Amino acid sequence: MRKNNFTTTKPANRKLTTEKSADKAAAPAAKAAAPVKSAAASGSTSSAPAASVSSEKSEPEKTWENAAAYKVSKETFRAELDELLELGFHTDFESAPVETLYKAIATLINKQLKRRRFEFQKARRKAGKNVPDTKKIYYISMEFLMGQSLKNNLYNLDETDLVAEVLKDRKLTPQDLYDCEPDAGLGNGGLGRLAACYMDALASQGYDAVGFSIRYEYGLFKQKIVDGWQAELPDNWLPGGYVWLNRRDEDTFKVSFYGDYEEYWTDDGLKYNLNNAEVVDAVPYDMLISGANSRVVDTLRLWKSESSNDNDFDMASFNNGDFSRAAQKENRAHLISKVLYPADNVEEGKELRLKQQYFMVSASCQNIVRNHFRDYGTLDNFSDKVAIHINDTHPALTIPELMRIFMDEYGYEWDDAWEQVSKTVSYTNHTVLAEALEKWNEDIVRVMMPRIYSILKEIDRRFREDMEEVFPGDEGKIDWMTPIAQGQVRMANLSVLGSQSVNGVSALHSEILKDDLFHDFYLATPEKFTNVTNGIAYRRWLCQSNPKLAGLIDSCIGPDYRKNADLLEKFADFADDPSVGEQVLSIKRENKVRMSNLIKKTTGIAPDPDSIFIVQAKRLHEYKRQLLNALRIISRYQKLKENPDLDMRPETYLFAAKTAPNYYLAKSIIQLICKIGEEIEKDPKIRSKMRVMFLENYSVTMAEHLMPAADISEQISLAGKEASGTGNMKMMINGAVTIGTMDGANVEMHEAVGGDNIFIFGQNAEEVQDNLRSYDSRRLYETDPVIKAAVDALGTGFAGTDFNNLKQYLIQKTYSIADPYMCLADFNDYCRVHKEIQDAYEDRKRWAHMSIINTAKASRFAADRSIREYADNIWHTKPAE
Ligand SMILES: *Cc1c(COP(=O)(O)O)cnc(C)c1O
Repeated sequence: MRKNNFTTTKPANRKLTTEKSADKAAAPAAKAAAPVKSAAASGSTSSAPAASVSSEKSEPEKTWENAAAYKVSKETFRAELDELLELGFHTDFESAPVETLYKAIATLINKQLKRRRFEFQKARRKAGKNVPDTKKIYYISMEFLMGQSLKNNLYNLDETDLVAEVLKDRKLTPQDLYDCEPDAGLGNGGLGRLAACYMDALASQGYDAVGFSIRYEYGLFKQKIVDGWQAELPDNWLPGGYVWLNRRDEDTFKVSFYGDYEEYWTDDGLKYNLNNAEVVDAVPYDMLISGANSRVVDTLRLWKSESSNDNDFDMASFNNGDFSRAAQKENRAHLISKVLYPADNVEEGKELRLKQQYFMVSASCQNIVRNHFRDYGTLDNFSDKVAIHINDTHPALTIPELMRIFMDEYGYEWDDAWEQVSKTVSYTNHTVLAEALEKWNEDIVRVMMPRIYSILKEIDRRFREDMEEVFPGDEGKIDWMTPIAQGQVRMANLSVLGSQSVNGVSALHSEILKDDLFHDFYLATPEKFTNVTNGIAYRRWLCQSNPKLAGLIDSCIGPDYRKNADLLEKFADFADDPSVGEQVLSIKRENKVRMSNLIKKTTGIAPDPDSIFIVQAKRLHEYKRQLLNALRIISRYQKLKENPDLDMRPETYLFAAKTAPNYYLAKSIIQLICKIGEEIEKDPKIRSKMRVMFLENYSVTMAEHLMPAADISEQISLAGKEASGTGNMKMMINGAVTIGTMDGANVEMHEAVGGDNIFIFGQNAEEVQDNLRSYDSRRLYETDPVIKAAVDALGTGFAGTDFNNLKQYLIQKTYSIADPYMCLADFNDYCRVHKEIQDAYEDRKRWAHMSIINTAKASRFAADRSIREYADNIWHTKPAE
């Protein structure tokens, strides 16, 4: 880890020589007092880690601005740890298993976060109403793909060295602890990871934000590959993940489902009764979100469903010995937050999923309004002080639920309530794929949430009236735009009409929303539509995942880019510096060696670090076209079989992808990749030139190892289909060169690095539109011998398994077209740029240049930048400082 000088160069301002020595001076007193004073084991938050030290006059006050005040000496930390291990875990430092050390140290770090959170809130309350232009930001999302927390928190709190020092006495490293932490896999892919990256950016830049989601007991399934076929195992993450969750019973809210609903008219207007509803408790578990530079600690509040009534346990049945009946109601309540739906970019339409959505939305909205009323005593200024963002349409019921709370609980009239609600909510669209747009059966909505349904009907009625004025007489158009039609509630339409802002997640995607998916809305309300290109938490994906590259960048341009991503662009000045170039290449090689060793641990095979690592890691979906990648690999394999002595740089193709359990075609494609790999592995001569590996169980933590080891990033979706992509950004910032279509954020990456530093191929989005109807894959197959050979190989099969289904998919017209994602149309151009890559890679100076430019220009894909755009242009708020 620490051999090269440039990697250990410590950024000048990442403290803290003076504070550290001051801390050391105070240490003896702390050491003596700590065992008595420490409150860690009792779970109390009332005493800060170095309470005994803080009584000394020289100690700075522990306020949320003053991060240095939280620093403790090794001795103090060790004393706290010892006590926690003894009283909390019934062991001691010398004999504790490493898993226990992870839990204990995470608990202490969590305690520090709680203290900082408390101070931040205190400061915020004090400044309170006097701070103009700041709002509370609420980010509601069914998914937060958080991954691990310890490494990130230690980095943000600048405590990594302290923990490393403490662990030395056990001959352990921080990495040994990280390896014990399960991923919080509360998301499927890009959408969930985006929410996680945004929480980091919000906290790091000092915004006052809360994320809301569900405390799924089981996160995204663990993927097991059996004979090439994906199997799903439950992901029971809580035992190791609990250390970061703080249950807050006092903020429990009740959520009602079903019941007998009736409306009646009185002199005061329409009233209703709801009887026999099924009521569940939503109990919050808060995960604290540290920011880099430690200024603000935000929260991710995860709701757990529990039965709300002791009567839900049926004592009579229990006494009669019918135990499962006795717990029936309790179990029904618990079921809501039991498991994350494993579908990405596809609509499930399951009743329990709708229940999850309303459960999350209702608890969150009640919480938001309660907070606001508590702080201001009125809701009249709600939209001035609150911004609520919905991540895709999953939380769209936010709109009618807020209406319900304003009207039924705070006595608002419809118009006044609507004024507040529709100015508070903003919406991000994540997909234009028709099969991913949420629609709910109207009857299910009516029965499950009768009051919400009644509000939806009224929203629908009024919207039709409004649109009649914009598009007089155009019934067809209006019917297309309404939230309810043809027996369905359409969440995208609801989200657009009830939000003050609608944005796509890349420039291209936002244009497609205006031109196509939401065109009529755009005509009616053009001012609502805007773009915010996605971004990534670059400290996690570069500084923490690739410390050596980050260290090299420190030594070139100084460490300030770790706070201000814009400065990273200065690294481009070193693109042609021979020494920097060489170091970039050697760091990449070290990362590949590390990845190769990891792969060996799970597969027994260590890919050659001197081969080109070509990576496609993302959900498996037709539109992402892993099949196009596989088809070109087949073609290459056929060429190598013909000419085994072909002079080429060896290539390693690394795939990683999960897919929805019922997505048969996608599972077939996984199997194809596995079987191609298996067949090649049998031939020593060929496997020395090309290797294909499918890495099981893709996760955030795997991505953190994989991205720094990628030479080439495959981003090959059919143009117009990938809303943005963020995996592309993670590999780019780690110096990989992209081979991609003009889709999603690739378009902006191309603009940032210039045509010489990216490999673009295939039809653009417009050409796809023009060509789709005339796409004749069978003609391509019949007239192009290279394509024909590759497609026919699917029929013959690999390692004893044939893939006739995939062959048919590519060339057989079933409904109107074969393969709606037009793999064969882009095949030849894809092969062309891959040939260019071989040459470019051999020119090591050129490659280093490309790599550095990619890292430097990735600065614009920092989540910090995205969040500033949301705050400035959509939420209209400033950091809470
Ligand atoms: C970033 C990320 C994704 C998104 O990848 P795309 O290539 O943008 O689809 C999915 N899964 C994990 C684990 C990620 O870290």
